[in-house]
Amino acid sequence: MNIALVGNPNSGKTTLFNELTGSNQSVGNWPGVTVEKKVGKVKFNQITYNIIDLPGIYSLSTMSVDEVITREYIEKGDVDVIINIVDASNLERNLFLTLQLLEIGKPMIVALNMMDVLEARHEKLNIKLLSKYLNVPIIPIVASKAKGVKACFQNAVLQKDKVMEPLDFYSDKTKSIISKVSQELEWDIDTQLSTIIRFIEEGPEASLGLDVNLFKVADLNEWVEQQFVGDVLDRDMVISDEKYNYITSVLKGALTKNDRDIDSISNKIDKVLTHRVLAIPIFLFIMYLVFFIAFGPLGSFIKDYFELGIEWVIIQIAALLRMMNVSDIVYNLVVDGILGGVGAILSFLPEISILFLMLSILESSGYMARAAFIMDRLFRRFGLSGRSFIPMLMGFGCSVPALMATRTLENERERRLTMFIIPFMSCGAKFPVYAIFAAAFFSQSQALVVFSIYIIGIIIAIISGIVLKRFINKGKTTNFIMELPPYRLPTFKNLFIHTWDRVRGFVLNAGTVILLAMIVIWFLHTFNFQFQIVENSAESIFGIIGQAIAIIFKPLGFGEWRAAMSLVVGFVAKEAVVGTLGVLYGLGEGVIESPEMLVGPLRNVFTPLSAYSFMIFTLLYLPCVAAFATMKREMNSWKWTLLAVGYQTGVAWLVAFVVYQVGSLILG
Ligand code: GDP
Ligand code: MG
Repeated sequence: MNIALVGNPNSGKTTLFNELTGSNQSVGNWPGVTVEKKVGKVKFNQITYNIIDLPGIYSLSTMSVDEVITREYIEKGDVDVIINIVDASNLERNLFLTLQLLEIGKPMIVALNMMDVLEARHEKLNIKLLSKYLNVPIIPIVASKAKGVKACFQNAVLQKDKVMEPLDFYSDKTKSIISKVSQELEWDIDTQLSTIIRFIEEGPEASLGLDVNLFKVADLNEWVEQQFVGDVLDRDMVISDEKYNYITSVLKGALTKNDRDIDSISNKIDKVLTHRVLAIPIFLFIMYLVFFIAFGPLGSFIKDYFELGIEWVIIQIAALLRMMNVSDIVYNLVVDGILGGVGAILSFLPEISILFLMLSILESSGYMARAAFIMDRLFRRFGLSGRSFIPMLMGFGCSVPALMATRTLENERERRLTMFIIPFMSCGAKFPVYAIFAAAFFSQSQALVVFSIYIIGIIIAIISGIVLKRFINKGKTTNFIMELPPYRLPTFKNLFIHTWDRVRGFVLNAGTVILLAMIVIWFLHTFNFQFQIVENSAESIFGIIGQAIAIIFKPLGFGEWRAAMSLVVGFVAKEAVVGTLGVLYGLGEGVIESPEMLVGPLRNVFTPLSAYSFMIFTLLYLPCVAAFATMKREMNSWKWTLLAVGYQTGVAWLVAFVVYQVGSLILG
């Protein structure tokens, strides 16, 4: 007799499997694929039972190899009883798979694992009621402590040959479609519901390998498609939606959460913050508020004092160097090269710290989870998965961890797609560029301008997702369910650690990589190819290369070699864009006493329009070398990595081009 173990990843399958079979296991592969197949044997009352450990999966749709293997094995393989292992501390998500398994109609029991976690949370689950609603035996266990494992096994054995009746929860419309499909294709609702449902979800694919009339299948598929015309959700989404609705209603009755009070307050807040219509305006408003605080009275107040401090330090060092009678060249290197470049970056520390602090507050209060939820709703309309949005939100901090976070996406194509668009989420390092240009050209509306850049990043990411989906991720998007944590007042300590972590990264970067880059840049723009000091930096190594590259940027409004080279250096690290501008525009003006002094030289080269175009290009073009390396590692392909950065740079050029050219037309 064969017993199959099926459950979500991390539900405790392996723990239960080991508990049941002890050392009596053998490991092989499923035929034709590299997915591991583990079989263990249990002897009980003279009978030997095979326990088969199936891959951990969230659903049975035909998305991944794991899901296909599991479905085919359960439907066509030699399975007598299914043990569906469910993580009791994560019921919403786990029960989705349970409902899909029940539709297959094979004898099944649910092993309700992690009961200890539920207990520790003081949550009460009415197992009898849950069992009644789901019409399946449910055995509570704690696999890690071997509790209930024996009872679970015995119940599974008893379940053999039991007839499982399908649940009745679909909407009337879905039911009528089910019965039509059942009649037309002569599939029995009681025993083949899962195939019928799959036909409704994805059409003819569901009938592969079955004895059906192909013309009938095509006609029927057409008819099913008709039924969903004009609906907001795709046909497969309708089916999953109805499953989730049922799960929600079941849990409302069977599960008593402990933190009712917190929950109900959270629910009230969520009624507003995740409201169907208001959610997005509120999200935009909150993001705007973040920038307003960073740039508004508070930000500029702190910034003014901070800049005085930096200025003071630079003047002291300059005076010290003069006193030590160092040569002009060393003086220039330190004052213009190092202090000018690094100082320009560091002067944005107050605004960056406020921005990071705000993002930390949004995260630890629970709002970011809502943002992902809201975006999921929006994304789904475009056929994208909101699951991608969490790594994308991390991209506001830094693309490197964001790219790594895509590992949580199961589908390889979806993962690749997400990596293509993550760099469009503006990272903290690009912020000084916006800040300095906004201060120089849009002093009346700095917050609004910077906010608009971030929003353009999100919009370009979404548009890219829709367009690229056609090429990269032709398959369906995976379902995304997330449990919204209750709102919490962030603790001071937590916020401090979070913010400090990011600020420290910013400062460390400025003190190491960028410091080095600044020194190199200073040399390259001080000397020419014959290693002689040049009078006019346009004749330097940097100047000559820059003039060649600048041609590319001419149509974008900033075909000036210093601007062009700062973007090239930006590949080292995005903070270096401002640092390079500091070094290049600072030369010949003596000491840059404050980054504010950059404003003057910038105004000579840029107009407000070309400054905006420059900001857009900085927002979108290829990420820094650290992100590039991460992307290469995560995609594990040079081709895709180069395609991605090529795409990003191409989009950057195009959008900046359109902004500048259209802007020029409008402004005359
Ligand atoms: P799988 O991915 O489904 O194979 O899950 P594992 O068996 O690897 O378990 C995932 C994690 O959950 C491991 O750290 C287990 O030790 C832990 N775990 C398994 N069962 C229980 C349980 O009943 N209670 C608790 N608290 N942890 C468990
Ligand atoms: Mg496992």
